[in-house]
Amino acid sequence: MTKQVAIIGGGPAGLMAADVLSAAGRSATIYEAMPTFGRKFLLAGKSGLNITHSEPYAVFRNRFGAASGRLQPALDAFGPDDVRAWAAGLGTHTFVGSSGRVFPAAMKASPLLRAWLRQLEARGVQLLTRHRWTGFEDGGYAFDTPTGRTIARPDAAVLALGGASWPRLGSDAAWVPWLRERGIEVPPFQPANCGFDVAWSATFRDRFAGAPLKSVTATTDAGTFPGEFVISRHGIEGSLVYAHAAALRDRLKTTGSAALLVDLAPGRTQERLAHDLGRQDAKASFSNRLRKGAGIEGVKTALIRELAPDAARLAPAALAEALKALPIPLSRPRPISEAISSAGGIAWHEVDEHYMLGRIPGLFIAGEMLDWEAPTGGYLLTACFATGRAAGEGAHDWLA
Ligand SMILES: Cc1cc2nc3c(=O)[nH]c(=O)nc-3n(C[C@H](O)[C@H](O)[C@H](O)COP(=O)(O)OP(=O)(O)OC[C@H]3O[C@@H](n4cnc5c(N)ncnc54)[C@H](O)[C@@H]3O)c2cc1C
Repeated sequence: MTKQVAIIGGGPAGLMAADVLSAAGRSATIYEAMPTFGRKFLLAGKSGLNITHSEPYAVFRNRFGAASGRLQPALDAFGPDDVRAWAAGLGTHTFVGSSGRVFPAAMKASPLLRAWLRQLEARGVQLLTRHRWTGFEDGGYAFDTPTGRTIARPDAAVLALGGASWPRLGSDAAWVPWLRERGIEVPPFQPANCGFDVAWSATFRDRFAGAPLKSVTATTDAGTFPGEFVISRHGIEGSLVYAHAAALRDRLKTTGSAALLVDLAPGRTQERLAHDLGRQDAKASFSNRLRKGAGIEGVKTALIRELAPDAARLAPAALAEALKALPIPLSRPRPISEAISSAGGIAWHEVDEHYMLGRIPGLFIAGEMLDWEAPTGGYLLTACFATGRAAGEGAHDWLA
């Protein structure tokens, strides 16, 4: 009889596992809890769909922190160029943006997802929505379906249930206790690529929530990067904050406090800034001195007033020092339900090099369920595709 493979979870990782299995002629069924596939993938498409990154591969493959080594074989086998070629094969041509990030020409995910699902269907993959896996039962996988409960007993299975961010799109991490009961170590999920709470004054929050801080640099244990971020009602959000999020989250956890150190005038040295500020008329208003002497105005001036209320009385050298390294003290990361991705998930020692669980032979894992994290920039999707392929190939070889 034809061997059956169940793929549970129809996001990028699960669809990619189905892709390789069906291309290899395997009989595959995808079980997806939601009424449609790839909801998070579609949401990622709302902000342009950064599908991969064009930086040199030697840099790219090290963007996954402690998991870089474990992910490397999967990324070597399906890296950024392969992602672009695969998307082109489905009619989605990509381009490299000014930041080196790679986007589909259409700047959205829906045409790619539609073509992908059509291809899977044409290869005979059974696509089941509203099929929610509810745990292991009677030697099989139990599902809640529109027509009642059912138990699937496939010859092999791939779990690609996602992490724990944006649970309303489907990845609610309900599976964590079911795997823990089977003795599998699953370090808790934590927000990654997330915003942070800041105790803004009511006046600052009401006036500046939504205002972007452009052309700044920010420093943490992760390093110093240029970019921009946004003041939110709760604190700070945006790409520059996400780039520092893992370092800030870990520092908050270990020491109880953390700050994002912002350089509001990255184009000038501190000495130059002190000199330029020193030339301003001491009787001029603080905002005029900042605007004329440092090119700083608007939300940037308000941020200095908010965080350093005595800044107006500082001598030029001390003011320059404050402008070059203004600490924004953070209270806590925003909840995981708002984060772009999550850290934590199934520990790497639980899966072998084919992405199979050592404790449950025949069960393979892919995507954000595994314990890795990466910055935004196309790394997340590339690793989901790559691990989806690796798990699909693992299942194929295991059945063979
Ligand atoms: C706002 C936002 C923007 C993003 N932008 C980008 C970007 O531009 N570039 C990038 O690289 N990454 C981006 N990401 C991250 C990227 O979307 C994720 O890393 C990726 O979708 C994870 O893929 P996955 O297949 O592992 O999990 P998911 O995409 O979460 O898919 C898991 C699937 O499993 C299903 N499922 C869960 N539990 C069950 C169950 N019990 N039974 C059956 N099915 C179940 C879910 O419904 C879901 O469809 C973004 C994320 C967000 C939230």
